[in-house]
Amino acid sequence: MTQPPTESDLEAYLNEALTPPEMASIEAQLRSSPQLPQRLARILSRWDAGAHSLGDIWRRHRISCASREELGRFLLGVLDDAHARYIRFHLDEVACRLCHANLLDLRRNQAEPDPTGRARRKKYFDSGAGYLQGG
Ligand SMILES: [Zn+2]
Repeated sequence: MTQPPTESDLEAYLNEALTPPEMASIEAQLRSSPQLPQRLARILSRWDAGAHSLGDIWRRHRISCASREELGRFLLGVLDDAHARYIRFHLDEVACRLCHANLLDLRRNQAEPDPTGRARRKKYFDSGAGYLQGG
């Protein structure tokens, strides 16, 4: 006899966070039980409705790319754990090329915050105009 899956079983199923035998068991029950697909649909619509817990945010973003802002905060280490874990997963496991490119770009920007501004400032001082500012 098989126990009907709990809510968190189904959430884990949607997150592909179960072991293969557990996934197979729920898939089998999905085919035989008319209630299960409805329960899954309810969970999905709840996630889409924009619940605000960290877990929900993590789940919702799991399948999508991180924004530049998220990646920037990831680099600074100021994201919350769940969020940072998601981005690490997205980069390492999903190996998303777009996000890797974005991250590389951001890293370069952080190493050299404003190269054009610096060059412009140097020119300004070289021209002697800097002295007028009391420098
Ligand atoms: Zn991505």
